[in-house]
Amino acid sequence: MEPLRNAYLDALGIDRWVSRNAPAEVAPSPEPAPASGTAASGAGKGFSGFRSAPTTQAPSANPENPFPAPSSLPPSADWAELRARVAGCTACAELCRTRTQTVFGVGNTRAEWLVIGEAPGAEEDRQGEPFVGRAGQLLNAMLLAIGLPRETVFIANILKCRPPGNRDPKPEEVSRCLPYLSNQIALLKPRIILAVGRIAAQNLLSTDAPLARLRGKLHTFGDANTPLVITYHPAYLLRTPSDKRKAWEDLKFARATHARVTAGGTS
Ligand code: URA
Repeated sequence: MEPLRNAYLDALGIDRWVSRNAPAEVAPSPEPAPASGTAASGAGKGFSGFRSAPTTQAPSANPENPFPAPSSLPPSADWAELRARVAGCTACAELCRTRTQTVFGVGNTRAEWLVIGEAPGAEEDRQGEPFVGRAGQLLNAMLLAIGLPRETVFIANILKCRPPGNRDPKPEEVSRCLPYLSNQIALLKPRIILAVGRIAAQNLLSTDAPLARLRGKLHTFGDANTPLVITYHPAYLLRTPSDKRKAWEDLKFARATHARVTAGGTS
């Protein structure tokens, strides 16, 4: 684990104290290539909704869209069908006009870890995969440091479409899009959720509390009481290196929580 931890600390630019007598260090292994999502099907259990149900109604569906607005559909029990629904979504007129494509999410559909970010950026919009830009590289390093190659987790966002100019998601956009994420959570049944950044944290917890108050404690999500840990968004960490140490504490907390939960403990 030590080389992985060091890889993360190096990626974050955090100086490490090394004993003068320590043996020479082994170079960290290269970052794993991102995996593309698989479309395994599986019966979903109950629809694990968000604490407060979305109140904003989606606009009436485009007659050319075979998929009604998300809130009017029962949750899908099948990854491939859900992916197709997202790809054809026209619930947000502005976002579906300005997007290149939807960004469904990526990773192992049997993953125990679900990482949730805010919304696709420019590079994600181009490639159709979350967290592939600079912030994504840092996220990969953060995950690897706690023993999680990117392809072993599932990564999704609160919004499936890029807000133009990378503006914050509007509340009505979040309301329309959350049923997709909720459906993904119901299908995946993660053992732990790691929310990165304020937008993800506040929307998952239905709160306006600042990130500083949400970090460092164990939350739960949905009817399944899935453990939920909050940390900084990697894009924020790229801008604010002084908070990288606190992010590392969050990651260790998440790793310990996962270990406890999978060892049979309660959250
Ligand atoms: N930031 C996010 O929150 N999600 C992405 O997919 C990329 C950048």
